[in-house]
Amino acid sequence: MSLSKVIAIDGPSGSGKSTIAKQLAETLDLLYIDTGAMFRALAYCCDQRNIPLTAGPQMDEFLSNIKLEYGKSEDYLIGIDGENLSHKIREHNVSKLASIISQIPQVREFLLNFQRDLASRVVCVMEGRDIGTVVFPDAFCKFFVTASVEVRSNRRLNQLNEGGESNLSLEQIMTDVKKRDESDMNREVAPLKMAEDASLVDTSEMELLDVLNSLKDSVLAKAKGTGISL
Ligand code: C5P
Repeated sequence: MSLSKVIAIDGPSGSGKSTIAKQLAETLDLLYIDTGAMFRALAYCCDQRNIPLTAGPQMDEFLSNIKLEYGKSEDYLIGIDGENLSHKIREHNVSKLASIISQIPQVREFLLNFQRDLASRVVCVMEGRDIGTVVFPDAFCKFFVTASVEVRSNRRLNQLNEGGESNLSLEQIMTDVKKRDESDMNREVAPLKMAEDASLVDTSEMELLDVLNSLKDSVLAKAKGTGISL
């Protein structure tokens, strides 16, 4: 069986997977693909256009007419119909909307095709919830990155503070993180779960830089073992 040239990094929000995935891609000079940003962009856009976050003809029409762009740079990571949404999608409210829209099968199928197409020509680091299980079950390298709810909520709070949204308490964030975990892990289509052949990485008590170094070694060893050139 030929393997996909994808480094799949899955895990719950706040586990540190985005930071790790981004830095890993940078260190190895590979394309970084943030699939959460895609769910966020679709959710944000539906909200702006008053399209209900449910399966149905309005959602079908929306998906068939939009032009989703993955920009591959920090300043233009994601856009829809020419509008740069890279920063707007990071607001706290959009996290909730993204979790709702991610339960709609048509949305998942639309993004599955988009993600496979994006990764078809290059070696990449793709992060999300279902990359190693559904999108690229044949990825040559898979990690499942996690951390305790407390650690993840604290990281999320810091991120929001840095982004200027400092009106939320740690308790509120912890409640939202648990809710999001619950719905991501229990949805019918492509739930968040660890692939059987993924390596588990718990970042609760580790510095992200140490995690990064160990992942990098592991990727290089896997690439060598499978004959994939990075
Ligand atoms: O990773 P991030 O927090 O940006 O993802 C936002 C939401 O998008 C998640 O809570 C999850 O519901 C959804 N998502 C998903 N599958 C992915 C990536 C994100 O369902 N591959």
